[in-house]
Amino acid sequence: MDKNVVWHTHKVTRAERATCKKQKPCLLWFTGLSGSGKSTIANAVDVALYERGYHTFLLDGDNVRHGLNQDLGFSDEDRVENIRRIGEVSKLFTDAGLIVVSAFISPFSSDRRMVRNLFPAGEFIEVFLDTPLEACEERDPKGLYAKARSGEIKEFTGLTSPYEKPERPEIRLDTSSMSVMDCVEIIVGYLQERGLISEPTGQS
Ligand code: ADP
Repeated sequence: MDKNVVWHTHKVTRAERATCKKQKPCLLWFTGLSGSGKSTIANAVDVALYERGYHTFLLDGDNVRHGLNQDLGFSDEDRVENIRRIGEVSKLFTDAGLIVVSAFISPFSSDRRMVRNLFPAGEFIEVFLDTPLEACEERDPKGLYAKARSGEIKEFTGLTSPYEKPERPEIRLDTSSMSVMDCVEIIVGYLQERGLISEPTGQS
């Protein structure tokens, strides 16, 4: 980095930005196989929090690749850079006081650890959608498993490319045996327990 680039300390602190939103910032990092339900549950959590009056922002894999990361491909180097930028953007949003919800396969532990390390303890919440491969493949909402099986897509996570399961995720959910609303309740409950949002009775 250029030595003339200096870090400016903001006059309005991140704590003040969060306090005026009546919440504590955090990043809910959804990880799991394609079709495990990341987008579905992330969107449902986003809606649930929005309806309770909280300030959130949703970052979704495909959308980020249309804009900020449109220069990146799928090489190992570009995949790491994709996650690094998403981590840094999430960090800026949490500095703004927001609850960030992100949905990326993020198959490698090292990449997820890199993002975790950007955040103060307790602010990075790994939500592992531990849905069995068979269930994901049966759903195949985007037809990607079929394409991978026919060889049209090379290096497909879960089939021809590895998915490294999180060892100690903050939240683990199997969407093949739990409804969307069950998953949302568990995640919102976790945020309440940790004091990141208020308990239902304490809402303003
Ligand atoms: P991902 O973002 O992980 O690729 P998606 O959310 O796009 O996964 O797709 C999951 C698919 O599974 C959707 O078509 C969704 O409607 C379906 N589905 C069925 N039951 C559930 C559930 N309990 N939780 C999440 N998704 C579910």
